[in-house]
Amino acid sequence: MDGKRQLNSFQQLEKLGEGTYATVFKGRNRHTGEFVALKEIHLDSEEGTPSTAIREISLMKELKHENIVALHDVIHTESKLMLVFEYMDGDLKKYMDTNGDRGALKPLLIKSFMYQLLKGIDFCHQNRVLHRDLKPQNLLINSKGQLKLGDFGLARAFGIPVNTFSNEVVTLWYRAPDVLLGSRTYNTSIDIWSVGCIMAEMYTGRPLFPGTANEDQMLRIFRIMGTPTEHNWPGVSHFPEYKTTISRYPPQDLRQLLPQIDPTGIDLLQRLLQLRPELRISAHDALQHPWFHEILQHQHNQQQIIANAQHVAALHQQSQSRSGFQQQATGVPQSSYESY
Ligand code: ADP
Ligand code: MG
Repeated sequence: MDGKRQLNSFQQLEKLGEGTYATVFKGRNRHTGEFVALKEIHLDSEEGTPSTAIREISLMKELKHENIVALHDVIHTESKLMLVFEYMDGDLKKYMDTNGDRGALKPLLIKSFMYQLLKGIDFCHQNRVLHRDLKPQNLLINSKGQLKLGDFGLARAFGIPVNTFSNEVVTLWYRAPDVLLGSRTYNTSIDIWSVGCIMAEMYTGRPLFPGTANEDQMLRIFRIMGTPTEHNWPGVSHFPEYKTTISRYPPQDLRQLLPQIDPTGIDLLQRLLQLRPELRISAHDALQHPWFHEILQHQHNQQQIIANAQHVAALHQQSQSRSGFQQQATGVPQSSYESY
């Protein structure tokens, strides 16, 4: 089917969001009635068919996990790419703004969102996919309380900006210190730094490091986490953006800075927000952290309840079929007992 016909099978509804490279609309599949999110990416007309984009997007289609927004389809016309995603009710930023207490969420909900976030990231990392742009606007939420990773930067990688004056400018707030220092050898640990920033933000309702430019961003991080030195981070002074004039701050106590977070949560946060990328915890290990025991216990209890219910239902069925069997065996219909 050609792109135009494929596009016609979706009714375009209201706009859901607008980034720098793409506009996202709510859509409805005319055949199934199912809601979808249509992400429209404008292509550079000079460049022709972006084969690398198509290849990369095809890889994305394979990345199937309950905590990653499903990419159903890719529709390609001369001037644009339309990505058809599973529909979600909103993003984490909007969710915090509308449901939070001045942006701040409740501890158990934060724990559930963190667990789902790390599950999605662990799956990406196991499949050698980096997200690179984790932030509340790129985490999607639905009414069932599910959190899924969205916006894998495909639009940024292949599209041309639709609106350079968008208020959603590329933000530095969630960027890892090694990347800010100019490291080009970054890996999965860059996503983990962002997770730490998002965890703190869910507790306070405010970004942890709201920097305005590269250097300001670094200073804000160092003011809280301490300025790295050759002593505690061998080689740090060789990074392209490392300035010898940089102010030396001692690390602050996160327990005092974020009194909302319980001690076990602070322990996890410390492990996520390690300045040195190689010391940052992996998503896989973070999921095993004692802070999540409560979630696992809760899941275990729920499974137990379901298992018990299934067991009871099975017993019920058994006893029913047994009485049916007896009926057949004796040849006496149940109603005839009444006449005795
Ligand atoms: P951009 O690359 O322009 O940042 P995103 O994929 O992040 O594009 O989408 C922009 C916004 O659109 C998101 O922050 C979110 O509010 C909304 N959005 C994106 N995908 C979906 C979806 N599947 N369901 C609901 N809303 C979405
Ligand atoms: Mg986005």
